[in-house]
Amino acid sequence: MDERFDAIIVGGGLSGLAAAYTLAEAGQEVLLLERGDYSGAKNITGGRMYIRPIKDMFPDLWEKAPFERGVAHEEVCVMSGSGSLLVRYSGEEAPYQSYSVMRAKFDKYFAKQAERKGVSIVTKTRVDDLVWADGKVAGVIVGDDELRADVVIACDGVMSLIAEKAGLRKPGNPKHYAVGFKEIIELDQELLEARFNLKDDQGVARLFVGDVTKGKFGGGFLYTNKSSISLGMVMGISDLMNEEPMIPAPEMLELFKKRPEVSALIEEGQIVEYSAHVIPEGGYRHLSNLCGNGILVCGDAAGFSINSGMTVRGMEYAMGSGYYAAQAVLKAKELKDFYCTGLSVYEKLLNDSFIMKDFKTFQDVPEAMDNKRLFTYYPELAINMMQKLYDIPDGPKDRIIPTVKGMLGFREIWTIVTKDLRRMMKL
Ligand SMILES: Cc1cc2nc3c(=O)[nH]c(=O)nc-3n(C[C@H](O)[C@H](O)[C@H](O)COP(=O)(O)OP(=O)(O)OC[C@H]3O[C@@H](n4cnc5c(N)ncnc54)[C@H](O)[C@@H]3O)c2cc1C
Repeated sequence: MDERFDAIIVGGGLSGLAAAYTLAEAGQEVLLLERGDYSGAKNITGGRMYIRPIKDMFPDLWEKAPFERGVAHEEVCVMSGSGSLLVRYSGEEAPYQSYSVMRAKFDKYFAKQAERKGVSIVTKTRVDDLVWADGKVAGVIVGDDELRADVVIACDGVMSLIAEKAGLRKPGNPKHYAVGFKEIIELDQELLEARFNLKDDQGVARLFVGDVTKGKFGGGFLYTNKSSISLGMVMGISDLMNEEPMIPAPEMLELFKKRPEVSALIEEGQIVEYSAHVIPEGGYRHLSNLCGNGILVCGDAAGFSINSGMTVRGMEYAMGSGYYAAQAVLKAKELKDFYCTGLSVYEKLLNDSFIMKDFKTFQDVPEAMDNKRLFTYYPELAINMMQKLYDIPDGPKDRIIPTVKGMLGFREIWTIVTKDLRRMMKL
């Protein structure tokens, strides 16, 4: 540990591994420090990984990657207090654009590949502080040890202590964070495939909106793995803590699991894992500073996660930002400048990439989603409409359009809908 490194990477999740892998591939001496027992031990996702934007960055990573199932079916389940509406879209074919993953397996595999490229990975090691010299970050402090490098890359996740110590990030406002909590429920593979109508390696991603969050910001998710289900919820921390009804997160999950739409899917299943984690959801306006003298910030540490209402995406941003941070370090090395002047090419690379383009495109989403009616009024309206359409009364039944008109024909409804549509145009 007395050695000096080209780069020290703090955190062995996807962003850290991506940066380490890319730098080692380019012949750099890289040390990656991870506080967990192994990469994947402390890493949580829903989760599905979208691979198209990052496929070419890691060309030899995918063939043997431990994916669970290709997401062939997208489903949305809209829930009211008493009913639900399920929509299933099927049309995706192999090679799929996204795959369900379990981080304990995927990150472990990725770490092995990074080690093969030459990365030194030290686990069970927490970085406590930064070393400063000549007006720049010059390494990290681990217990009583000082480890030196030209550059440090902060990949230590959503509560990044390292970015904070470097003065690149302030402690966050709960409004800009969500909490995700989930279980992995093991199920006999044949039973799972029959239950979700799946062939071979096909999988399903199901989003739940409406009563699942009791009117609060968020939703539920279900992903099928090979022989298990990832089932959980993502909820705005501020709403969860401050809005009625005050129900603790674990109880929310229990209520969700008791819904008939969910309980039938997990029947005979065995819970094998429970986890919870914070998610950055502030979007473009609440990203951290990305670059300081001798330091770069990647992945969740920078705030690179988007909840678009339809999807939570963070994994490909983590891997992509790690890749671009590595490219920036290589460029800074050419320039022999590890101050912000040399490293700021990272921002340019991100700006030109899918990452910042997505963050700019979706920058108004957090505000547009901050609307209670999306989680209460509209799901109720959709379910009531279905109930009316399918209802056969004692007497004669009205035609379809007058039935719909009867539900939507009030001026107050259109005032609300028009106002919300204006906000929703930003989605
Ligand atoms: C419930 C939930 C559902 C999600 N669903 C999806 C999804 O379906 N699709 C998707 O793309 N994204 C999803 N996300 C987001 C995605 O999982 C994250 O964006 C992604 O994991 C971020 O990766 P990362 O490497 O930046 O951070 P992390 O995976 O959090 O890695 C940070 C690492 O740093 C280590 N560390 C922290 N501090 C230190 C320290 N001081 N010293 C050493 N090591 C340290 C930690 O142990 C950890 O291993 C979800 C997130 C959650 C919580």
